[in-house]
Order: sequence, then C-alpha cells, then structure tokens
Amino acid sequence: MLIHHYLEFYERAIPDAPCYTFNNTTCNYREFNESTNQLANGLLGLGVEKEQRVAILAENCLQHPLLFMACSKIGAISVPLNYRLAAEELAYIINDSDTKVLIVGDEMAGTLEALRPLLSNDITLITSSLPDSLHWNSFLESQANAKPDIWVDRDAPLLQLYTSGTTGHPKGVILTQFNITQLTAMNVLATPKRVDQQSASILCAPLFHIGGAGSAILNTCAGQHTLLHQAFDPMKLLDDLENYPVGNVFMVPAMIMFLLQIPGIEKRDFSKLDTIFYGASPISETVLRQAMDVFKCEFIQLYGMTETAGAGILLSPSDHRRALNGKPEILGSCGRPTIGAEAKVVGENGETMPAGEIGEIWLRSDCSMLRYHNLPDATAKDLTDGWVHTGDAGYMDEEGYLYLKDRIKDMVVSGGENIYPVEVEKVLARHGAVADVAVIGVPDDKFGEALLAFVVLKPDSSLTAEEMVEFCRDKIAGYKIPRKLEVVAELPRNPSGKILKKVLREPYWKDAKRSIG
Ligand code: ATP
Ligand code: MG
Repeated sequence: MLIHHYLEFYERAIPDAPCYTFNNTTCNYREFNESTNQLANGLLGLGVEKEQRVAILAENCLQHPLLFMACSKIGAISVPLNYRLAAEELAYIINDSDTKVLIVGDEMAGTLEALRPLLSNDITLITSSLPDSLHWNSFLESQANAKPDIWVDRDAPLLQLYTSGTTGHPKGVILTQFNITQLTAMNVLATPKRVDQQSASILCAPLFHIGGAGSAILNTCAGQHTLLHQAFDPMKLLDDLENYPVGNVFMVPAMIMFLLQIPGIEKRDFSKLDTIFYGASPISETVLRQAMDVFKCEFIQLYGMTETAGAGILLSPSDHRRALNGKPEILGSCGRPTIGAEAKVVGENGETMPAGEIGEIWLRSDCSMLRYHNLPDATAKDLTDGWVHTGDAGYMDEEGYLYLKDRIKDMVVSGGENIYPVEVEKVLARHGAVADVAVIGVPDDKFGEALLAFVVLKPDSSLTAEEMVEFCRDKIAGYKIPRKLEVVAELPRNPSGKILKKVLREPYWKDAKRSIG
C-alpha cells in the first residue's frame, strides 16, 4: 500500500467529510484528493520524474500535505524546508537535496530574493499566491484532476526530511513509502484513539519536521479532520482546544511550557480534548505534572527521531496513570518500544548493556530510514542491520522502560565523572523561580570541564548561584551540581523547541579544544 491509497479510500468512503481546515477554509476529502491529482499532473508537466525532489518553502499551509500526497502519486520525493533558516542555510539544504522544483509561499518573498542567486539555475520555481486555498495559482488550476496512471513501488523514497541540526549541519533523511505506511499501521494499533473520525486533530507543529509532516500524513491516512495552524499561535491553539472536539494534538515541550505560563490557563475548559502527544526534546517532570493537572486529558510521550520517522518509544496513557498510582519514576521515562519497534542499549564495544546500565540507544523498526542523502559514511556508521544509532545515551529498566540521559555529544566530563546535563536541568526545573534552564560544560582548569547553568527566571523571581547549589544539594550528587549560574532573558531554541547547546557553548569554547558541535 502507498500513502495516497488511504486518501483515495476516504475519498470514496467519506467524500464530504472535512479533511483540512486552514485559516477558516475547510476542504473535504474529495476536494483534497482532486487537488493532489492536479498538483501531481502539474509536476509531471514540469518534467518531474520518479525519485526527483520537489521542495517547499512556506509556513504551514495546505500545500505541504498536498505535496506529500502528490509526490506519492508520481513516485517523487517531497522536501519540506525549514522556512526559519537564513538564505545561506537554506541554499545548503536545497543544493544538497538535488531539488528539481521549488514551491515558495508568498510570505517568503524576502528570503527568496536572497536565496535565488545561491541556487542552481536548473531549479524550476513555483510561487504560491494563495497559501490558504487549495487553488494556489493559475498554472495548477488548469491541470486535470484525474489521477495520473503511474506505478510506484512500496519501497520508493517518499520524503527527504532534514534533521533539526541541533548538533551540526542538518542531514537529509530519506524515508520510503513503506516507512510511512508502517508508521500509520503502528499508530493505528498502538494509539487507536488517534483514528477517530468524529474528532479533529490540531496540527501546530512545523510541517518540515517529522513530528508535523508525520502527523499530516497520519491524520489523512486515518480519515481525520486536521485543523492546520500556520504557526504555533498559543491563543488560537487554546481556543481550538476549547471549542472543537479534539482527538489529538502534538506539541513539543517548549509549546506546553509556553501554554502553561498563560495567565488564567487553569480556568479554561479542556473537556473536549482527548489526547496530547508530546516529544522531540526532554520534558521536566514539573511541567508534565502541571500539564496533566491543567489539561486533564490523556498524555502520550513519543521518543524517536527523523531517522526513525519519529517512531520508536512511547509512554502510553496507562503509563502516565501508573505514574500517579504508585510508580512516579515512570514520568522520568520516555516509555517502551511501540508495536513493531525494538530498542537496545549498546556499550562502547557494541555489547548490549544489562538493565540499569547506560549506553547508546539503538532503535529498529520498519520505520528505520533508507539512508542519509549524500552521506554514505554517516549512513554506514549510524544504520546497521536496520538499527538506527540514535546518538542518545540512556538505560532500560527491568520492565523495558527507557530512561534518556542526554545526547552523547552533550555529555560533560568533569573531574573524570560523566555528567548528563539533562538530568541536572530536570532538577533545576523544579525550583520555583526557574522558568527555563539549560546546563552546559565549560572549560575548567581544575576539573577539565565545569557545569554552567543558564536560567530564565519567572517574573519577579531571583536566584543566586549559592541558592541554586543549596537547592540541588540533597537532590543530586555533589559533582553534578553546577557552581556557575548565568541568568538570561531566553534560551536559544530551534523551531522544534530544542535548546541549541552549540550556541550556548560557542563563546566559552572558541579558544579551547573541545568540538562545540
Ligand atoms: P541533528 O540530528 O541534526 O543534531 P536532532 O537530533 O535534534 O538534530 P531530530 O531528528 O529532529 O533532530 O530529533 C531527534 C532527537 O530529539 C533525538 O535523538 C533526541 O535527542 C531528541 N528527542 C526526541 N524525542 C525525545 C523525547 N521524548 N525526550 C527527549 N528527547 C527527545
Ligand atoms: Mg539527530
């Protein structure tokens, strides 16, 4: 099966059911499918062949899901681009991806001007003048709406998604039709409530990351109504959560933290909301407990990465309930392998570590990427026998729950001890004055590296280094307690809400030997 087969099934089964709502315009399954055919025919007319790339540079809009389905129908590869990148960063990705056609939203006109001289002349540009409509320009409107007759293999590449670039240059991850249809199957089986055609799914995560792109495809493959948001708009999100019967919404922890700080949030009525999916970066237990208290809905944590199509580990609603009923430590876990997924913790010599011992987490499932684009060495290193080497450190308990420590690249070695800064951040996040926190290692003459905490304070709060040390004293080992504190107005984050530690480290390490990647 291919992803557009689901869409075509729903076009026959529920043609008038709402498929997408975007900026107050709703299209049904019939209209949406016809438009994907038009786009597919338009791309064929531009000479796009199987396995050629069509990139899109636009804020969240209907053109992304249309493109995913249109590419599926002609065997082409969609490349959704991070529109918040600077022109040079975008040029790196577009040129790396071998893009044949580039679709650009009107709102990106300024970026396009700076980008154009950096791009190869072979790229065909389509500008989209009506980003909130299915009929986005006269060229596409004139296309036939019959399905193109093209055979596409189930192992054909479908998406080329770039990693968040948290640790270095973003890497192009190639995911196949099979990866995504298996992701759909996993979702249906592991989270059956996701497939609820009576309720809507809010999509406010960026469509250029696996969280957003994956949700867009899964929702349509489940016959759901997707309320697509142009960007993360906290007030619009709260309104939709209150007003619609919402089956699910995916948020990164930074979004949840933002919502929880909105005055009066606890007085709002979220009784129509069924499930919050969250993941992509570590969540503090304080924030998670507060969110469970405020939203009073089901919670599902996802741990995965672009290279696994977002699939892998899941902390289920019953796990969250178990945490409230006698096993509180579960809230510090990201869960257990979902259906069809395997996880293991691997030591430095490739050995599988026993329960409780820390190593690198490896994930394997039908969603493991095909390869990195143009990076044969990285592919050979990070993908072995279907196992994706995540670059994350963690351990598994006796019951198979996985506990993430941190990215291996972010580990700090101080006085010969390995320290995982996320563990320290989770403790500091419990302090009443702390709104946001990041911990890094900085050069230190005595210990090699020492911990430095960057803290964003809550309004009208204060914190000194001494108070911070005192707070941590009975909560973590002495060598894990940061002695240095810097109060900042905000932390640098990328669009997936991940803290950019390389940016925080840069000024401290520019003269030292450690790689700041
Ligand atoms: P790059 O690979 O370019 O450095 P990235 O790893 O941030 O960027 P993604 O594929 O978007 O790119 O993110 C995957 C990573 O996000 C995981 O390896 C992990 O570090 C982190 N992550 C994902 N889910 C969770 C979660 N539930 N809790 C904590 N961290 C998570
Ligand atoms: Mg990564």
